[in-house]
Amino acid sequence: MKNLLGSSIKELEDVALNYGQAAFRGRQIYKWIYNYKNKKKNIDQIEVLPLDFRKKLRDEGFKVSELKLQEKNFANDGTLKLLLATDDNESIECVGIPTEKRLTACLSSQVGCPMDCKFCATGKEGLKRSLKASEILDQILFIENEMNRKVTNIVFMGMGEPLLNIDDMLLSIRSIKDDFQISQRKITVSTVAVPKMINKLSEKSFQILGNCQFTLAISLHASNQKTRETIIPSAKNYDIKKIIEDSKQFVRDTGRRVSFEYLMLSEVNDKLEHANELSNLLKGFQCHVNLIQYNQIDDVEFKRASLKNLQLFQSRLSNNGIAVSLRKSRGLDKNAACGQLRQNARKK
Ligand code: SF4
Repeated sequence: MKNLLGSSIKELEDVALNYGQAAFRGRQIYKWIYNYKNKKKNIDQIEVLPLDFRKKLRDEGFKVSELKLQEKNFANDGTLKLLLATDDNESIECVGIPTEKRLTACLSSQVGCPMDCKFCATGKEGLKRSLKASEILDQILFIENEMNRKVTNIVFMGMGEPLLNIDDMLLSIRSIKDDFQISQRKITVSTVAVPKMINKLSEKSFQILGNCQFTLAISLHASNQKTRETIIPSAKNYDIKKIIEDSKQFVRDTGRRVSFEYLMLSEVNDKLEHANELSNLLKGFQCHVNLIQYNQIDDVEFKRASLKNLQLFQSRLSNNGIAVSLRKSRGLDKNAACGQLRQNARKK
C-alpha cells in the first residue's frame, strides 16, 4: 500500500506524471487531501480527477487514509476521543480538544508503549509497534472530519513514547508544518525522557526539519530520583539531574524553553517540600512547569491530589520564581486518561 498522506506537492506531481497525467493533477490531489472539509478520505472521492486516473491509483494500491473509526466519544465539554483501528487490527487513540479559538489534536505515536508508567493505562499493555508517519497524520484528518474544524495545535501526548519513534514523528511534523500549515511553535512533543534521546531529537530535527521550533515537554512528575522511579520504573536508567542537564543543552541548541509536566498525585509528590525541591532543581533555567490533575484509572494505586494542594503547590513554585501553570483536565467524563478507551475496548 502506498499512502499519499504526508506527500509533498512535488511528490504528488511526480505521482501524476508517472501515470501519464499533467503535473497539476498532483496539485489537485494535494489540495483535496489537506482540505478538512473533504470528509471521505479515499481515492474514489477525489472527483476532480479523471475516473481512469482514480482507478489506476486505486488498482496500484494508493490510499489516502488507512485507519478506520472504531469508537467515538464526545465529552460534555466538547472534547472528542476517538479509537481508530489500524490495518493490522490494532487500535490507537487520539483526542480533539476544542476551545473557541483552537482545536488541539492529541496524537499517538505508537501502538501501546514500552515505558510502563504506573499511572497510565497504555503502559500496562506494553509496546506493539511504532506508527508510521502517515498513521500519525491520519489521526489529524479524523479529528478534523469529526469536528468539522481545522486543527490548530498538536500535542504528541497520546499513546506511545515519541522519542522511540523519532524519524516517523519528525516526518509527520514536516507534513503538519508544510501541508497542514500548522506552525512548529504550535506543536508539543511530550516525552517521559529516554537516555540520550533528547540530544538526538534536536539533532534529527535540524536534519529533517531544518530547525527545531516545537516545544519539548518532559514528563517529570517528581522532584527527586527516588519518587520518580516509583511513578516511572524506566526512570531508573536516567537520573533526574541528567535529564535537567540534557534539557538545558536542548535550550542552548534550539533557543526554545522546555516544559516540565508534573502530574499531581496525592501523598506522592504534592507537598510543599516537593514544590521547594522542584524549585531548586529547576532554578536559573529557561523552563516552565505544567501542573496536571490526575485522571483516575482502574487498577492503579495513585489518587488525584486535592485542589487545595494543587493551588498551594502552584503558589509555592511561583513564589520561588518558577514559571508555572495549571492544566485543567478535559473530557473527564469519557475515559479521558491516555489508553483508557483502548483498554476498555479490549475488555469487551
Ligand atoms: S504515560 Fe506516555 S510514556 Fe508513560 S506509559 Fe503512558 S504512553 Fe507511555
